[in-house]
Order: sequence, then structure tokens, then C-alpha cells
Amino acid sequence: NPLQGAQFMLAAHRLSQLPADEGAEVAFAGRSNAGKSSALNALTNHKGLARTSKTPGRTQQMVAFSLPPPRDGSPEQASQPARRLIDLPGYGYAKVPLDMREHWKQEIDAYLHRRRSLRALVLIVDIRHPLKEFDRLMLQFCADTGLPCHVLLTKADKLSRGAASQALAALRKQFAAEGLHASAQVFSSSAGTGVDEARNAVANLLQQ
Ligand code: GDP
Repeated sequence: NPLQGAQFMLAAHRLSQLPADEGAEVAFAGRSNAGKSSALNALTNHKGLARTSKTPGRTQQMVAFSLPPPRDGSPEQASQPARRLIDLPGYGYAKVPLDMREHWKQEIDAYLHRRRSLRALVLIVDIRHPLKEFDRLMLQFCADTGLPCHVLLTKADKLSRGAASQALAALRKQFAAEGLHASAQVFSSSAGTGVDEARNAVANLLQQ
């Protein structure tokens, strides 16, 4: 697993508290309850890494996880650039007060615009509820700035295999129609569907 060995670094309430902006990182975003924490845990093969089913409110922070350098056998492994995964605050939970939602919208926006080590966004979308307003906002941002975006259509185990493939095909068609260049795949943290594919996608994005 190319994402094995992830470790909690810190939780940041503002951009300035994030680790030094060097090396490479991939950020994970998604509406609250879409399955972002479960996806992070499945990808890193670390059950307790990101806390699942947390009370909203408490999720309003960015969490940084460090990854060890990729194992390529080179003797200079220790001097390789840092690699991180960033868990962005879940978005769109109705019970979070509006001013707090606005605050985080701005904070995420600032992060996406300013973070130089950011290589790509992984957008977690419940396969049964594709592309709500927040998802569109993120995709549009990626389209505008050229930031690569990879969509995990998660909770695929809730649909039949045929229905899941149809949802993926429909999403790709929509991307093409709207000029969005995101890649997408079917995913399920609980069934393990697409986990290897997503690990490789993230590892590749970190190398760019
Ligand atoms: P987050 O708020 O986006 O971090 O979402 P969580 O990872 O905490 O998951 C929210 C809920 O969805 C929890 O009850 C999870 O058990 C459930 N869940 C997450 N991923 C999957 C999945 O792939 N399949 C199914 N059936 N449930 C999932």
C-alpha cells in the first residue's frame, strides 16, 4: 500500500497552523457524512486515523497526516520531500451555524488558493447524492485553477454493481458536458471497492 504508515501530525484551526508549506500534499474534501473519514482510514489502512461519525462542530478543523517517503530503495530516502494528506473540514452540515460555515468556506477557499504544496484534491461524494452545491464549488475551483481533482463515489456498496457503474458513467458525462477535468471512480470503504485504485491515484498525485 503506497499510503501505508500515515501518522497524525496536527489539527489546525487556521491556515497558519498547518505544517510548513513544502513537499507535497493531497487534500480530502466532502460534505459532512459523505464518508471522508472512512475513506481516509481505508486508504491508509489505519482504522483510527481519521475519526468517523464525529459530532459536527468538532469536525471544523483541518487535520494533517504525514506519510513516510515512498519505498523506492534509494539510499537518500530520508532527504526526500515530505508527503502529507490533509483532511479538510466537512461541509454543508445544516446544524453548523451559518457564520461558522461561512468562516470555513473562506478558510477552505484560502487554503486551496494559497497552499503551494497542494498537488490535488480528492473529493468524497456519496454515490447516491452526486454533486451537491459544495461539490460543484470544489470542482469549479479545480477547473478554474487547473488543480487536479479525483472524485471518490463512495458508499458504492449501497447500490448494485450495475447502478454504481451507471452513476460513474453519468458523472463522467456531466464532467465532459460542463468542461470539468476531474477523474472519478467507484469506491466503498466498507466493501473495499476501489481502494487499491484510489491509493495508486493519490500516490501518483503526490509525486507530481
Ligand atoms: P465524514 O463525515 O465524511 O467523515 O463521514 P464518515 O466517514 O464519518 O462516515 C459517515 C457515515 O457513513 C458513518 O456512519 C459511516 O459508517 C458510513 N460510511 C462511510 N463510508 C461508507 C461506505 O463505504 N459504505 C457504507 N455503507 N457506509 C459508509
